[in-house]
Amino acid sequence: MNDLELQLHYPLGDALPAPGRCLEVAPGVKWIRMTLPFALNHINLWLLRDEIDGRPGWSIVDCCIHRDEAKAQWEDIFAHELEGLPVLRVIVTHMHPDHIGLAHWLCQKWDVDLWISALDYQVARLGCMGPTGFGGDRAADFFAMHGLNAPDTVAQIKARTNYFPSLVPSVPEQYHRLLDGTVLQIGGHAWRCISGYGHAPEHMALYCADLNILIGGDMMLPRISTNVSVYEQEPEANSLALFLDSIDKFKTLPEDTLVLPAHGKPFTGMHTRIQQLHDHHRDRLAEVMEACAEKACSAADILPVLFKRPMDLHQTTFAIGESIAHLHALWFAGRLHRALGADGVLRFGMAPA
Ligand SMILES: [Zn+2]
Repeated sequence: MNDLELQLHYPLGDALPAPGRCLEVAPGVKWIRMTLPFALNHINLWLLRDEIDGRPGWSIVDCCIHRDEAKAQWEDIFAHELEGLPVLRVIVTHMHPDHIGLAHWLCQKWDVDLWISALDYQVARLGCMGPTGFGGDRAADFFAMHGLNAPDTVAQIKARTNYFPSLVPSVPEQYHRLLDGTVLQIGGHAWRCISGYGHAPEHMALYCADLNILIGGDMMLPRISTNVSVYEQEPEANSLALFLDSIDKFKTLPEDTLVLPAHGKPFTGMHTRIQQLHDHHRDRLAEVMEACAEKACSAADILPVLFKRPMDLHQTTFAIGESIAHLHALWFAGRLHRALGADGVLRFGMAPA
């Protein structure tokens, strides 16, 4: 545990759900932990005891990626954890593959509907349509403009057009729209949607005052800091400012709220965590300012400032998005000036006197 984690509290200690089984974290709230074949090696999913139109059953929150191992783990859960009841609906916090990947399979298997924000639904629909979605030439051009322009890197990014649809082959053809403030009645409890920006198009966290529980998705993680990136589809996004404004919305919830994060362990101490995240990004922004004060920097120049570890191409594409997000936060705040070099690379430096 690092120093910052010691400031948080983990009410369940080191307990984890066994593979293919759940751990009940509150009455009618079950924790599922599935493995992921990435550096981030697991995701937390949730089962909520529910009743729709007088029919008892379960709501699923988040789905894992599309792969056989995840389907097998779900089958195990269905065999052992549903108490003889059906799944009644699938709720997805946001459109990233580890959250929405198996939504189509789960909805089809149980003949139930999907609940998600409209933005995340539409972006996921676009993404799973394949090479017309994300990645490919446009992503390569965008990253090259931010200094990631070594010919072999550009070629590899251009070739990577199938990443999203390989993990999310399809999404259900209809959905129920979640908006900020939407209240879902789940198992006799009101769960209120809280929108969040900067990580996904329109992430929805779910808060239940009766149970004093927040399903935080990727917007409130205890250990790692949420990925906050700029992508080619919206090249001038100010994602970091959006993210920091969004997490401040959770300050209105009680300090002792039990947070159920998508990665890591359930924790309390959310107000402390919000401050830690602000401090973390303030320090990173200070480092970026310092580098840019010395000489104008591209996002690629900023990579070693923000990320001290060696990274593969996949991690580098995430990292360059984060670097752009930090440069943009300073640029939008008027603290950095942007200029397009003769080499076609955008660099950020001190404003000309
Ligand atoms: Zn995510």
